[in-house]
Amino acid sequence: MVVHWRESCFIVWNVPAEVITASIMDERRVNPIPRPAGWVHVVIGPMFSGKTETLIHLAEQHPPESRAVFKHASDTRYDPQRVVSHAGTVLDATAASDASTLVDLIPAGASFVAIDECQFFGIGLVVVVESLAERGIGVLIVGLDLDSWANAFPVMDALAERADEVTRRSAVCAGCGRVARFTQRVAPIVDGNMIGGSESFEPRCQACWTPPEQAVVEAPLRIDASYRTDLR
Ligand code: ADP
Ligand code: MG
Repeated sequence: MVVHWRESCFIVWNVPAEVITASIMDERRVNPIPRPAGWVHVVIGPMFSGKTETLIHLAEQHPPESRAVFKHASDTRYDPQRVVSHAGTVLDATAASDASTLVDLIPAGASFVAIDECQFFGIGLVVVVESLAERGIGVLIVGLDLDSWANAFPVMDALAERADEVTRRSAVCAGCGRVARFTQRVAPIVDGNMIGGSESFEPRCQACWTPPEQAVVEAPLRIDASYRTDLR
């Protein structure tokens, strides 16, 4: 036998359902349900997969006064004060050289923080992002998942593991037109400098991609000097 909510209120408590519902609502007014916490959305993929375009598109949905957009200071390719996609779309941004500097540059009223080229930040970015989400801020993380040798960037792995949502983007292979998830280095590496655009990199599929002959240029610091325990 199925007993409906309205009937069960009479059977169990001998009171109308409206009285029970009102009592539950009163309880919630006294002990409000906690505000939803912030969130973390990670967008990963190879170069030219539209990650920065996605950042600009999502960031523009938040009013300018409540958003803070960052890029890593070492990404000097196009404009120091704006994120610029390979397709030419742009958005004002603040450059930060490490996670500790970044957190100090977030304006008080920001409810949304977007960070481009997160693979350049050290692992210290993880604790910063966790603390922002705990403060109710939505955090959009954008960056390469793999370096030119197809090694994972540890900070991106850790952030994807923490994320509420992960978007994996792919590009079009410059060799054969299939789905590309690797970034091919197409120019010599000089002094370990891995920053560049289409003159140095192109997207490739598994079959067309090859690692550079040069030794691996280490990913940014595994332990960021700016690691902040005070944010826990
Ligand atoms: P990502 O941030 O993933 O590197 P962007 O968002 O900056 O990518 O740019 C993606 C756009 O780049 C694509 O929509 C396409 O128009 C363009 N693009 C794709 N391949 C190339 C390429 N080899 N060189 C320059 N631009 C490209
Ligand atoms: Mg980009």
